[in-house]
Amino acid sequence: MNARKVLVVGIDGVRLDLLPALHIPHLDGVAAAGFLGRVEIDATTPTMSGPCWATVTTGVGVAKHGVWGNRFHGNRFDVFPDFTTRLAAEHGLRTLAIGGWTPMFLAREGGPMFTAPSRLSYIAPTADTPAAWEDCDENVTVEAARTLTTVPDLDAAFVYLGAVDETAHFLACGPEYRASVETADRRLGRLLDALRERPSHGREDWTVIVVTDHGHRDEGGHGGRSEQELTAWIAASGPDIPAGPPPVDLRHADVAAHVYAALGIAPDPHWSLDGRPFSTTHTALH
Ligand SMILES: [Zn+2]
Repeated sequence: MNARKVLVVGIDGVRLDLLPALHIPHLDGVAAAGFLGRVEIDATTPTMSGPCWATVTTGVGVAKHGVWGNRFHGNRFDVFPDFTTRLAAEHGLRTLAIGGWTPMFLAREGGPMFTAPSRLSYIAPTADTPAAWEDCDENVTVEAARTLTTVPDLDAAFVYLGAVDETAHFLACGPEYRASVETADRRLGRLLDALRERPSHGREDWTVIVVTDHGHRDEGGHGGRSEQELTAWIAASGPDIPAGPPPVDLRHADVAAHVYAALGIAPDPHWSLDGRPFSTTHTALH
């Protein structure tokens, strides 16, 4: 039986409604092999990066993980750890978390969100500008691809790309934004190539999950409850995911739940996950 592995790529602030007009062959490929589905950020969760990513990575909602904004003070990651930490600490798996958003990776601004993965790589953007964030994402992609290809015992990874969101905040959801989404898709393609270049690739079954945290208003910005802001999405492919329509009632918390399921790990009831594996939500089990 092949080894089970999971790659989660988080791309910050990607509007679902703009995707059909874009040249994004790699995301399209994941969707064609599995699904791409709308996620509605639930009514209790601010449409902000911190709470949404915390829900994605822990599998529990804001009432449990305690992240209500982009500073993570008061978080409960000690009780509700992210999946890269739980897999490493409790299951002896090898995990990676990599990206450039400070509180995700450093003990600053109330972080880190990724408290103890096996490998953690933080690459700071050199400035708070779209260009600097593109450079950061490029460096993240190079480093992540190298690790994905060369570390034989890697089991699960989270790669964070932040330039798309930064571009919307500075330049609105216009041509620069669309170009940034297409650039992020090319980076996704290089991460997928990196998996295929693994010497052990033929003996592995990778689940790939691509997810965004929230949308943006046309003029750039989020945090409110407009349709554009509260619409996120998840795309995924893998051995447990039939190609076809997305699961019904897809939620951010399902990402971590599916990571555990894809690795053959039954969640302990004490984890009190709020998400469910994608494979079970295709049916009426819930
Ligand atoms: Zn965000």
